[in-house]
Amino acid sequence: MRKKIVAGNWKMNTTCQEGMELAKAVVAKAGEVPANVGLIVAAPFTHLCCLSEVLEGTRVELSAQNCADHASGAYTGEVSVSMLKSVGCQWTILGHSERRQYYGETDEKLVVKTKLALEAGLGVILCVGENLDEREAGKHFDICKTQIENVLFNFTAEELKSIVIAYEPVWAIGTGKTATAAQAEEIHAFIRKVLADKFGAQVADDMTILYGGSCKPSNAAELFAQPDIDGGLIGGASLKADDFLAIAKAY
Ligand code: PEP
Repeated sequence: MRKKIVAGNWKMNTTCQEGMELAKAVVAKAGEVPANVGLIVAAPFTHLCCLSEVLEGTRVELSAQNCADHASGAYTGEVSVSMLKSVGCQWTILGHSERRQYYGETDEKLVVKTKLALEAGLGVILCVGENLDEREAGKHFDICKTQIENVLFNFTAEELKSIVIAYEPVWAIGTGKTATAAQAEEIHAFIRKVLADKFGAQVADDMTILYGGSCKPSNAAELFAQPDIDGGLIGGASLKADDFLAIAKAY
């Protein structure tokens, strides 16, 4: 049985103090979420050290939102995977569309970052997804396939066990426009087929594939009921503990 996960991506929101309060509020009611659903919060770098204390001994795991593409050295402003590990991080998001769009994140860089993260013992939430033009041109299958091939095909089946995919149609992120459950399921099933063709059916079947894009308490249950949707990467709605937990409870 593959893991079900609901992960909150706080993006560049909350002060450190607000983040601690938010994490405490999540922890306080995390017991209401079915035990088989993994909970992750992906916070800004500045919050991670304090948050790891808040989350220690709880079921809520800690993620970064990015990492450097070098192990250490003269890279001013960057944060390495060993730094993330040293503050108790268990995961990092990589390849979020906002990083691809605004910070020149390429698939080549993502291969390097994923390798560094896995070597450091971090799990990776790798985001893929098409933008609106690509969707309207009917290229969404090709775009997702290429992103998966360019990054994940450089890793072994064993390494894939530490990677979760998040399918996030860019046109649905922060826009209030959710992909319909059928649209999301169609791509999730397709991604699983791409993985099966390369790594075999068992590896593909074990892979956790999350949906992200304006997921909220009112639409989570329908999305999560789809056979190939294994949870969500939640942006805006993860900034309210009750909404985040309501989404996770949708299982
Ligand atoms: C995200 O940025 O990963 C995301 C899914 O955002 P939102 O839920 O706000 O659309």
